Amino acid sequence: MNIKDKSQIDLFKTKIHNSQKVIIVPHNNPDGDALGSSLGLYNTLKNMGKEVTVITPNEFPDFLNWMHGVEDVIIYDKNIKKAKKLISDSELVLFVDFNALSRIKLMGEVFESDETPRIMIDHHPFPEANTADIQISVPEASSTCELLFHVLNEAGFKEYITREAAECIYAGIMTDTGSLNYNSSRPETYLIVAELLRMGIDKEHIHHMIFHNNSFDRMRLLGHALGEKMERIPDQNAAFISLSQDELKQFNFKPGDTEGFVNQALWIEGVNLSALFTEKKDLVKISFRSRGGFPANKFSETYFNGGGHFNAAGGESKLTLDETVKRFKTVLKEFCEANEFN
Ligand code: 5GP
Ligand code: MN
Repeated sequence: MNIKDKSQIDLFKTKIHNSQKVIIVPHNNPDGDALGSSLGLYNTLKNMGKEVTVITPNEFPDFLNWMHGVEDVIIYDKNIKKAKKLISDSELVLFVDFNALSRIKLMGEVFESDETPRIMIDHHPFPEANTADIQISVPEASSTCELLFHVLNEAGFKEYITREAAECIYAGIMTDTGSLNYNSSRPETYLIVAELLRMGIDKEHIHHMIFHNNSFDRMRLLGHALGEKMERIPDQNAAFISLSQDELKQFNFKPGDTEGFVNQALWIEGVNLSALFTEKKDLVKISFRSRGGFPANKFSETYFNGGGHFNAAGGESKLTLDETVKRFKTVLKEFCEANEFN
């Protein structure tokens, strides 16, 4: 793995050795990689005798609540006072799976003035300068969890990675690669998976807990999304799904219920771009997935105030759901006409 500046590992090691109170922060709407890297690190540092707290900007989905240590996670937007106190009392803050303060939403304002040293461990492209004092950024890593394992190993902390930590780390690798489908053609990923297996993880059980533990409502929402709400845009080889608050309520929506829906439209022959529009209280959350040469991150950054990876990105819109979809169709046409993709 290509960590540009090897001295970053030494700095990480020194900072960990010299800090007792450590805070770990993943991005808003934590996914498997965000919470997996947070708790993988949390369990490892706990084993080293540190006082560690994971603070997520907002709620995380139920399908991750089997992870070891999850009951100790503080949710910032539900415990702002407590979270702020923990942060101001800490000696080190570790940012995982994001590379710009805007990705932690409300919580970002805490760090605009906070002086605690920060280390970022992340695999998204184009890190924003000054997000942290030490920025370990490796976009070719399949997941932050893979990168985290590599960093812990290089720093000499492997002995502290117990099975519980290894399970969290595997969950992040698995979810960010679609169960080792995409972003997972580097042999090193499998060497790390092999190490995690040696540490005793039960990978079938983890797969089951994440993917085969759906509520009845969630499966019905998926049926509704695919059967009633999926549309094609043949001229731009695209397909999309939009879901309103009313529809989500109808299926008793819980955070994480629409996770993975955006991948499904990409399974259609001839579709190279898939989008999911989810109406939230004050904005529309958008997910993009692409195949081949369509730069989902550039598209999202240009039109929807977002970003992410080349083939998996996210963004948002302050327009209504209908207006957002309408705008999507217009700007997609414009973008496709101005650029050539293979
Ligand atoms: P998802 O569609 O699963 O929410 O996100 C796909 C990818 O894009 C993830 O790597 C995620 O971190 C990134 N992403 C999602 N939403 C945003 C956003 O609003 N801004 C940026 N910069 N990245 C995002
Ligand atoms: Mn990730």
